Amino acid sequence: MTELPVPRVRFAPSPTGYFHVGGARTALYNWCVARRGEGQFILRIEDTDRERSDAAWTEGILSALSWLGITWDEGPYFQSERRALYAAAAERLYAGGHAYACDCTREAVEARTKNNAVPGYDGFCRDRGLAFVPGHALRFKVPDEGTTVVSDLVRGEVEFQNSTIEDFVVMKSNGDPLYVLAVVVDDLDMQVTTVIRAEEHLPTTPKAVLLWGVLGEGRPLPQYAHLPVLVNERRQKLSKRRDRVAVEDYRALGYLPEAMVNYLALLGWAPADGREILSRDELVAEFRLEDVNRSPAFFDEKRLAHFNGLYIRALPTAEFVERCRPFLYGAHGLFEPTSVDEAAFARLAPLVQERVATLGEVPGLVAFLFAAPFSPDAVAFEKAVLRDESAGETLEHMAAAVERGALDAADLRAALEQIAASTGRKLGKVQAPVRVATLGAAAGLPLFESLEELGRERVLERLRAAMARIDERG
Ligand code: GLU
Repeated sequence: MTELPVPRVRFAPSPTGYFHVGGARTALYNWCVARRGEGQFILRIEDTDRERSDAAWTEGILSALSWLGITWDEGPYFQSERRALYAAAAERLYAGGHAYACDCTREAVEARTKNNAVPGYDGFCRDRGLAFVPGHALRFKVPDEGTTVVSDLVRGEVEFQNSTIEDFVVMKSNGDPLYVLAVVVDDLDMQVTTVIRAEEHLPTTPKAVLLWGVLGEGRPLPQYAHLPVLVNERRQKLSKRRDRVAVEDYRALGYLPEAMVNYLALLGWAPADGREILSRDELVAEFRLEDVNRSPAFFDEKRLAHFNGLYIRALPTAEFVERCRPFLYGAHGLFEPTSVDEAAFARLAPLVQERVATLGEVPGLVAFLFAAPFSPDAVAFEKAVLRDESAGETLEHMAAAVERGALDAADLRAALEQIAASTGRKLGKVQAPVRVATLGAAAGLPLFESLEELGRERVLERLRAAMARIDERG
């Protein structure tokens, strides 16, 4: 058996916006490869675009990765701190005759090339012998003939005709390195063995291969793996203007990181037996870049919510209670900390856990207990209480039963069943006004357990308030 090299992979986000679910998938695949091969996961922040990069976006990326449990072994390195390396590489390219200085303005290039069959730079400065000094850009001399092959674990061998690749800029006239130069310099310096990244980078990869050929001094190219794009239900590429793409948003909505990781892993890959629910360890053991699909992967929010619901239900109840806390009060919370009765919540938690797909739905189900002041949903109240001619009578009977001592869920159920029987109405019919009057919504947790938790005083108060509103209506 041939010994596989220990993988050194890197995740190299640009801190120019919210951390995208596509970025999270790329990070996860890198992480699986590193963990499986007992290699290293390097985190590199590609912040050479000074205008668009922001430390706050970097913070967001680090925090989202930590939340997902995607841990790094080296870094974060910042490209903005490594400019001297890129400048030195540019000098080497120039000195070795692999690159030349160029003083063409964009306008001049456009004017000269607008009618050319092959788009791109026309090589105007190739033989002008300009000095590589501030104010001049540096262009790589792409061979006129031959092909450059990108050997990709997902896409196979992708061949590019060199004649279609322009003499591309590696350093701007202001001394800023171009992305492709910085990436090659860093991947060499960091001894990266496998480049796993979004498909959108495939077109620039032949440029990286050409640069590597010169700067790499014979070192083998990294293995490339370009991951399929993520699309929405209309098969459009996910976009931050159109779709919910920020990992941070999913976190705030109450998705569990383990559900997110499981779901992200399946965007472009599946285990051989088609299993859907996989733990982190199973992912690490089974994930193979060779099995990544080339076709676009549908990012289906509904399916993600379904996964999340399964993960929520699998939590031990005590842990579920713990994870709900920030959604009840605190960072994403809906209630004042003082109005949340933890013991009451813990008692209802198993019923809540059965009914939610995200932790963000939890507060809505227990608002009847913790929201102050209590105010029933106006539409539901109108329909179930004010428009139902028998509602007044039902509420009165129910109030009388509670006053007489019906307290626990079984008593309350018996009382309402009796009301239904004595008035000749269906149980559902008499339940509706009671539910809306006391719990404030037409649907939610089981009625009788909720009433028991609410307690006699509040139940009576709410039933009476609803009766008063019926009377006001006349
Ligand atoms: N910085 C690039 C991005 O955020 C990634 C480049 C790479 O992985 O090579 O899309």
